[in-house]
Amino acid sequence: MLGAAAFVLRDFLGRRLEVEGRIVMANPKRRHSHSRTRMRRAHDSIPKPLLGSCPKCGQKNAPHQICGYCGYYRGVEVIKMEAEAEPAAEKK
Ligand SMILES: [Zn+2]
Repeated sequence: MLGAAAFVLRDFLGRRLEVEGRIVMANPKRRHSHSRTRMRRAHDSIPKPLLGSCPKCGQKNAPHQICGYCGYYRGVEVIKMEAEAEPAAEKK
C-alpha cells in the first residue's frame, strides 16, 4: 500500500475516525429504554418563578424586589406611584 492512507480522518482531539476506510466512532452499546429516557427527563422541567406577596398592598411580586404596584420595599416608599390604585391595602 504505497502512498495509501496518507490522509486519515480525525476528530478535534486527534482521534482516528476511520479505520481502513470505514468511519468508526464511539457509539452507545445499547439503546435506552423509554423508562430510562423519562427518568432522565424528570429533572428537565423549568421551575415556576418564585412569587411572594407585598406586605403593603398584597399583590404578587418577586421577593427582594420593589413592589410594582405600590412602589414600596421593606416598608419604605422607594418609587412614587401615580395616585392611589391601592387595592385592599388598609384593613382595620
Ligand atoms: Zn405593594
